[in-house]
Amino acid sequence: MTISQDLFSRAQESIPGGVNSPVRAFNGVGGTPLFITNAEGPYTYDADDKKYIDYVGSWGPMILGHNHPEIKQAVLEAVERGLSYGAPTETEILMAEKVKELVPSIEKVRMVSSGTEATMSAIRLARGFTGRDKILKFEGCYHGHADSLLVKAGSGALTMGVPNSPGIPADFAKHTLTVAFNDIEQVKAIFNEYKDEIACIIVEPVAGNMNCIPPVEGFLEGLRSVCDEHKSVLIFDEVMTGFRVALGGAQAYYNIQPDLTCLGKVIGGGMPVGAFGGKKEIMDFIAPVGPVYQAGTLSGNPIAMAAGLKALELLSQGNLHQELEAKSKALCEGFQQAANEAGIPLTTNYVGGMFGFFFTTAESVNSYQQATECDLERFKKFFHLMLEEGVYLAPSAFEAGFVSSMHTDADIADTIAAAAKVFKKL
Ligand code: PMP
Repeated sequence: MTISQDLFSRAQESIPGGVNSPVRAFNGVGGTPLFITNAEGPYTYDADDKKYIDYVGSWGPMILGHNHPEIKQAVLEAVERGLSYGAPTETEILMAEKVKELVPSIEKVRMVSSGTEATMSAIRLARGFTGRDKILKFEGCYHGHADSLLVKAGSGALTMGVPNSPGIPADFAKHTLTVAFNDIEQVKAIFNEYKDEIACIIVEPVAGNMNCIPPVEGFLEGLRSVCDEHKSVLIFDEVMTGFRVALGGAQAYYNIQPDLTCLGKVIGGGMPVGAFGGKKEIMDFIAPVGPVYQAGTLSGNPIAMAAGLKALELLSQGNLHQELEAKSKALCEGFQQAANEAGIPLTTNYVGGMFGFFFTTAESVNSYQQATECDLERFKKFFHLMLEEGVYLAPSAFEAGFVSSMHTDADIADTIAAAAKVFKKL
C-alpha cells in the first residue's frame, strides 16, 4: 500500500469522498488520488516522495510556478502586519488599480474569495441591473457551483455525470437557459424566443471545463452584438483564462469587450481570491452605492491581496505570455507527432498558457458534443501511465492543462518523451 492510498482511506473516514473538491478524488480516471506534500517551480512531490512535472498547477493559479520566492516573500511580509482586519486597506486599492490597468473592459472591480462567488455575484448584479430573471449559459461551461449555474455544467459536474445536482429547486434552474457553445445561431434563436427576458449571457471565452475549446471565429463577436441588440449584459467568465491566455485575458486575446468579467485563480497567486468587475455604471449598482447586495467577511484579505498583487506585478514583466503560448504549442505539437507515430488518433487545442488533447479521429474539436464523444477509456489509461512516468496531468478528460513560466524546455521535452513511450502502450 502506498502512503497516498493509506491517507486516502483515512481521509474518507472524515471527509466526504476523502476530498474537499470532487475532481481531486480521481473520479474521472479511477484509482487513488496523490496526496501532495510540497511543490516547487513546475514540480509537485507526493507523500510517497515521487516527483511529478505538474500541468495542473493548482487548477490554474500557479502560472508562475509553485512557491514563487517573491510571492512567498510578499505573503510573509503581509503576515507580519496581521492576518485580517475586515476594514479597507491600501493594498486593495493597488490591486483594483492593477486589475483595471491589465483587463481592458474593467473600470471598477470588487474582490471576493473564490471564482464561484465572482460568477454568482456577477449574475445577481446583471439581473438587478436589467430587472430580468433569465440567464443564458453554454453546455459544458462551468462557472462554479452556485444554484443557477449548475445546469449542464462542465468540470467535476461533467466528469461525475451529474450536470444537474439535486438540491437545486427546479424553480431556480428554469431561469437558466442553455445552448451549445460555439453555435451563434442557437444563441440568436433563443433570444428571439425569450425577447427581452434575458438578463445576461455568461460564457467562458475559451472553454476550459470540457477540456480546452477555443471560440470559433465570430462566436464571441456574435455574443457581443446579440447582447447589444437586446440590452443584455455580456459576462466573460475569465476565472480560468484571466491573466493566462494573455495578460489582459481572453478579452485582450480576441479583442472583444464584455460588460462584466469574472476573475479567480491567477489573481490570488495561490491564495483564495476571486473578483468581478466591469463597466462603472453596472458596478455602481452594487452595495453600498447601489441596491444589489454583495459582501464578504474575508473579501480583500490582506494576505491574499499581497500574494495576488505580487503575482500580477510579476506577470506584467517581459513577454511571459508569448513564452507560455510557445510552451503550450511545443507540448501539443510534440504530443501530436508522437501520437501519429504510434498510430493513436489524437487532436489538440491551445490558447496562451492553456492546452487540451483529445483522443478522437475528428480533425479538430470545437464543441461540447465532440468533447464528450472522445475515447475516455483511452484517456484514463494514458493518464495513469503518464503518472507512472512522473507527469501529473489533470485527472479528467474534461479539464484544460496549464503550463507555467517555470516549465523549462527540458520539462516539456521530458513530457513529450514520456507521452511517446505511453502512446505505444495504448
Ligand atoms: N469559472 C470557471 C471558468 C472556472 O474554471 C472555475 C473553477 N474551475 C470557477 C468559475 C469556479 O471557481 P472556484 O472553484 O474558485 O469557485
